[in-house]
Amino acid sequence: MQRGIIRVNTPTPEQCHYLVHDCQAAFNVAAQSVTGHLVTVHFLLPTAPLQDSEPLAFERETENIVLNDNYTFENFVAGPCNRLAHAASVAVAEKPGRVYNPLFVHGSVGLGKTHLLQAICHHIRSHTPLTKILYLSCETFTNHFVEAIERGALHQFRYRYRHVDVLVIDDIQFLGARERSREEFFHTFNTLFQCQKQIILSADESPQDIPSLEDRLVSRFNCGLVTRIEAPCLETRMAIVTRKAKLRCADIPEDVVHFIAASVDSSIRELEGALTRVLAVAQQYGGTVNLAVAKEALAQSQPTRNRRVTISDILQTVTERFDVRLSDLQGKRRHRSLAFPRQVCMYLARELTPLSLEEIGGHFGGRDHTTVLHAIRTISEQRSIDKELEANIRQITDLLRKQSA
Ligand code: ADP
Ligand code: MG
Repeated sequence: MQRGIIRVNTPTPEQCHYLVHDCQAAFNVAAQSVTGHLVTVHFLLPTAPLQDSEPLAFERETENIVLNDNYTFENFVAGPCNRLAHAASVAVAEKPGRVYNPLFVHGSVGLGKTHLLQAICHHIRSHTPLTKILYLSCETFTNHFVEAIERGALHQFRYRYRHVDVLVIDDIQFLGARERSREEFFHTFNTLFQCQKQIILSADESPQDIPSLEDRLVSRFNCGLVTRIEAPCLETRMAIVTRKAKLRCADIPEDVVHFIAASVDSSIRELEGALTRVLAVAQQYGGTVNLAVAKEALAQSQPTRNRRVTISDILQTVTERFDVRLSDLQGKRRHRSLAFPRQVCMYLARELTPLSLEEIGGHFGGRDHTTVLHAIRTISEQRSIDKELEANIRQITDLLRKQSA
């Protein structure tokens, strides 16, 4: 098993076809219950080289099927961090080739790029099943290309890639280093683009930041919509934990949802890992999920993790930036020049530390949780309308994360 996928070799194309069409769901369920993880089974076609006369359509169709059943729009939580990428993906899924072409989604690892790309495929497949989609990783593209050269089957390769309605390639940054694949991809891209076929790509960097990607490809990618997924804010992380728990039929109290969401602020994949650990420890206590269980579950993983942002880090950074004294932030005065940085501190404490509202209030002269809640709401509202504040908070957050990395 590799990256959540169990690969099963099949002896004949017919058997592979049958397994993919009629048994996929049953195999996924069985694999998930045996391993206890959200794994997917992929059925592989026999590896014998294709003869020139063999039908290509079949292989293409089978490749389409290899999607994670959970990566749908219904299971995707939209928030400020991914709103544009999500909206653009929905638009592209509804009208392939007619809105944003190409669609290029980038962002660091574990933030939902693959999920969104596959959600587009699921949507198209269920709404317009006749649309020919080819979904694959960049690695598969380059492997197929190299194989095609070795077998002298470039003609087949080109037929296969250039006769689709939607081409989806995940992690396109891996194309950077391979010159011949890049060349081939460039022509594939042009052919599809000229026929107004939809192209969807993902990468960990924006096109211009992918090393050794030549300008002509960068400019091709930039002629559609390039959109970035950011790290999710606390509210989005909480919504994701709730959604993932529901998918696993687990009922988790609000304070535990917050604790998990506040413990992991980088990748959603890690967030899911944290949820899995909490549920696993809860199993040992007869299935009850509470804060004590969550603290125990996540404490085990703390030593290997980076040092976390603490309330003292936040106080120090904010007092420096707003040029106020710590004693004033913790004191009673309510002048705006003090109340505002105080609210920023409370907001950041909620976003970046696992402290509860009461605990945060405790660090500001014993203010009660409703005051803290009010501060958090005020800042998060202002943040969405005030660009300068947004940039300021982003900078402080980046700085705090960097310091504690
Ligand atoms: P990437 O391709 O960017 O590395 P993935 O798409 O593989 O990330 O996402 C990692 C995990 O996080 C997946 O299990 C995915 O379902 C989940 N995930 C990411 N973003 C979201 C989201 N907005 N809502 C729900 N789940 C998400
Ligand atoms: Mg991915």
